[in-house]
Amino acid sequence: KQKNNPNQAVNEMSIVESVPKTLNVADIRSHFPIFSYPENSELVYLDSAATTQRPVQVLDAVRKFNEEYNSNIHRAAYKMAEKATAGYECARLQIAQFIGAKHAHEIIFTRGATEAANFVAYGWANKFLKPGDEILVTELEHHSNLVPWQMAAKRAGAKLKFLPFNANGELEYEKLDDLLTTCTRLVAVTHASNVLGTRIDVKRIIDAAHEIGALVLVDGAQHVPHSPVNVQELDADFYIFSGHKMLGPMGIGILYGKEKLLDDMDPVLFGGSMIDDVQYQESTWAELPWKFEAGTQNIPAVIGLGAAIDFLQEIGLENIEKHNDSITNYVLNELAELDFVTVYGPRQNRNAVISFSMQGIHAHDVATFFDNKSIAIRSGHHCAKIVMKKLNVASTARASFYLYNSIEEADRFIEVLKQARGYFAKWI
Ligand code: PLP
Repeated sequence: KQKNNPNQAVNEMSIVESVPKTLNVADIRSHFPIFSYPENSELVYLDSAATTQRPVQVLDAVRKFNEEYNSNIHRAAYKMAEKATAGYECARLQIAQFIGAKHAHEIIFTRGATEAANFVAYGWANKFLKPGDEILVTELEHHSNLVPWQMAAKRAGAKLKFLPFNANGELEYEKLDDLLTTCTRLVAVTHASNVLGTRIDVKRIIDAAHEIGALVLVDGAQHVPHSPVNVQELDADFYIFSGHKMLGPMGIGILYGKEKLLDDMDPVLFGGSMIDDVQYQESTWAELPWKFEAGTQNIPAVIGLGAAIDFLQEIGLENIEKHNDSITNYVLNELAELDFVTVYGPRQNRNAVISFSMQGIHAHDVATFFDNKSIAIRSGHHCAKIVMKKLNVASTARASFYLYNSIEEADRFIEVLKQARGYFAKWI
């Protein structure tokens, strides 16, 4: 199916202009049209854990596809469609290299991390999970990496178990030995918490799970945008993430799976593009990765995700991680001075996601106050109701920082937090 040499096509189709080599925030911001849009002149965007903004390189890649070579992939013999196919398959190869996968065909395009988890829940768990089997998740999971396992466990008559986190927001790794049993078939664990920012030692969990023969699915939605990852070094069996949290378009996500596991799994969606042969009553399936990619895919989003990865790699994931760490430390130090704020999650080894509460004030009111000062923060349960239950709160406010956020913006965040305290004082 792949007619073009992907590497050659990558060079021909390169859409990345020069981006700064070091983390010069002003320079980086200049690549993001949203920040120079007149209505956003005051905007301080602190909700990148929900979705990130997109650089012009990504927007251009999508626009170019739509304007210059919009066509369906893998089917047509004409040149424009070959270019679309090459762009699509190049992005697959690029993503494989980006996360250290052994083969490009271990990368499956999905609508997002959520759909990727569901693919495993249906394609793997439906086929292999038996009554009495166990799935282990953690109390830190986003609903996307929890509800699919609740449902898979119910369908199979399996049991769902939880690795707890402690008061510091760290997983209680010492309980792993007790929780992993000979019945454990799968461990589903996040690489970083979207509420507490906690970075998880997934290698430790993977090693422990493999020792008893269980597979591990890692939810990298909050990790891949911020830190380098190598799925082979981790020895992860499945790894999922979303394009829109890493500067890419919405509606595109990745399921990585080891070749053998994907081969053994059943397809989840059936129809065009995923078949090898079709008879009146029976069909057989295409080889990887197409077996899982039924119907017309979100081709421009895949190509846009390739451009996002180019952008991230130009800057360097290590540099992005350092930048995020320094902003996080700065904000946490400032917050530690404010006795009316409760900050959740660990002090060290955490992502640039800071959940907090203001004494006596609902998180939605806090977020609305910030919005009136042109600062976009999040409030709610963050699709992590188990975390909320454990913290004994209904919701938190959450500020999340990324490569385009400056220390000045962090200062503005702290300043408005102090103003909020003054504003709400009369009601508490
Ligand atoms: N996993 C984590 C840790 C997340 O933070 C999110 C989104 O916030 C998801 C999964 C789901 O991602 P998507 O909505 O893109 O499928």
